[in-house]
Amino acid sequence: MATVEAPIRLRTRAQQNPFRNEPVTDFSKWDVARQMRAALDRVRGQLGREYDLVIGGHRIKTAEKIHSVNPARPSDIVGIHQKAGEEHVEPAMRAALKAFESWSRTPLEERVSLLFRTADLLRERKFELMAWLVFEVSKNWAEADADVGETIDFCEFYAREAQRLVHAKAPVQLPGEIDHLFYIPLGVGAVIPPWNFPAAIMAGMTLASIVCGNTVILKPSSDSPTIAAKFFEILEEAGMPEGVVNFCPGAGASFGDAVVAHPKTRYIAFTGSREVGLRINKVAADRAPGQVWIKRTILEMGGKDAIIIDADSDLETVADGVTAAAFGFQGQKCSACSRVIVDERIYGKFLERLKDRVERLTIGDPAINTNMGAVINEGSMKSIMNYIDIGKREGRLITGGGRATNAGEGYFIQPTVIADIQPKSRLEQEEIFGPVLAVIKSRNFEEALDIANDTEFGLTGAVYTGSREKIEMAMREFHVGNLYINRKCTGAIVGAHPFGGFNMSGTDSKAGGPDYLLLFSQAKSVGEKIT
Ligand code: NAD
Repeated sequence: MATVEAPIRLRTRAQQNPFRNEPVTDFSKWDVARQMRAALDRVRGQLGREYDLVIGGHRIKTAEKIHSVNPARPSDIVGIHQKAGEEHVEPAMRAALKAFESWSRTPLEERVSLLFRTADLLRERKFELMAWLVFEVSKNWAEADADVGETIDFCEFYAREAQRLVHAKAPVQLPGEIDHLFYIPLGVGAVIPPWNFPAAIMAGMTLASIVCGNTVILKPSSDSPTIAAKFFEILEEAGMPEGVVNFCPGAGASFGDAVVAHPKTRYIAFTGSREVGLRINKVAADRAPGQVWIKRTILEMGGKDAIIIDADSDLETVADGVTAAAFGFQGQKCSACSRVIVDERIYGKFLERLKDRVERLTIGDPAINTNMGAVINEGSMKSIMNYIDIGKREGRLITGGGRATNAGEGYFIQPTVIADIQPKSRLEQEEIFGPVLAVIKSRNFEEALDIANDTEFGLTGAVYTGSREKIEMAMREFHVGNLYINRKCTGAIVGAHPFGGFNMSGTDSKAGGPDYLLLFSQAKSVGEKIT
């Protein structure tokens, strides 16, 4: 039950300042790099601390724990977390339902202010948060900066979007009536993020939920609960009432599954793999006893993203773009380039340039700001190594192909390029989620587009070409949620590149875009007769 909010006159910073993306941190400045090193030292001193489950403001300890480790130094524990089990679903739901009664009736102005205060606190603690990302998921400094920057952007962007939505109007006003259109909250949402953007995606789905007046059961990934605990701390410090977000690290298959199945869960905001996304879709579709709504699912899933290189491309620019898109954050982005489709006329020359670029990448502990850190965990390392073996059989190894053992004790894998991969082969079709790039030869641009489109995914893609005609053809025919022209396929910016994929890449929710908050609210139309 939510109140209908009349459009309020807001005098907040949204009206004073239009949205601006958070600036990128320039680590090439001596003083900025010094601040980052100091933050790393401070956070290093805080590794291994224990964090609580927080349900309705109550701090809870469990017998079983989740140990989050540093992928670059697996013997270092980053944080010890409680492990929510099925027995915690009911208390978390009760707390979230109770908080919903008041939070859904809280004036929009206050909800928006919470996001602005959160943004301010994130900015104050930016270096510290970046340092946590370096330790917990092995991001280098620039990748950590992008993740925290995007988190701040989501606060600022969704706060303004909520203020825009409150002014929605029915497109037609009938004579003798006032015709209203209100966007009201949905209820309790399960927010289930992945580990690879453990700040931005986790926070983005949570912030969109709460600014719309929903309350949340937040189950972070077991690989990255510490950064989520830090974000939760910041929400509390910003004044979030108890129970609005309930912080529940736990196993996906037990706690996560049970929250999705709960009859009072109104919606699920998930980002992660195709397998888990499809499972959530199925569980959510079953009506549980006592359930009075169709659960809404917002599901963003995997990718097999391709960059197409036309014969007239500048090979230096292209090799830089492909290297960054394929190996940034060890290829562990849903948007990462895992296939490059190259016109046969420049195929050999491109491979030479690419090999040269890739072999210059540094690998090691990202605390010293290498180009590449470790992959997230041992299971992932084994799965990636298995794909490299498959790739060696399916194609021709150009560079990499093994573990980077000289980088340290962590889960380091060499950036790997495998050429002469055929369309429909496993390396060309399956999401690997690691530093492995398949290179495919095409006869012409049309064939390159056919190859690019011929997977079950449709998340990001890029095209390098000087031809206007081909750019327009790509805009029409390249079937991905996020297409880039003459630039790499990673690095979506809030507001400029609303993010979400087609086909098995998800429900195309377009995070950071003008439609996103509609997914976290429901429209109520009221036709009022003038008496
Ligand atoms: P994952 O699917 O293994 O896990 C994602 C989340 O789901 C985790 O919090 C996990 O604990 C939880 N979970 C697991 N089983 C569950 C269940 N049965 N019920 C409820 N929750 C469950 O994914 P991951 O390894 O954390 O992340 C990598 C994947 O995420 C890749 O496939 C990547 O492409 C995708 N991803 C997509 C986007 C996007 O915007 N499309 C962005 C980032 C990552």
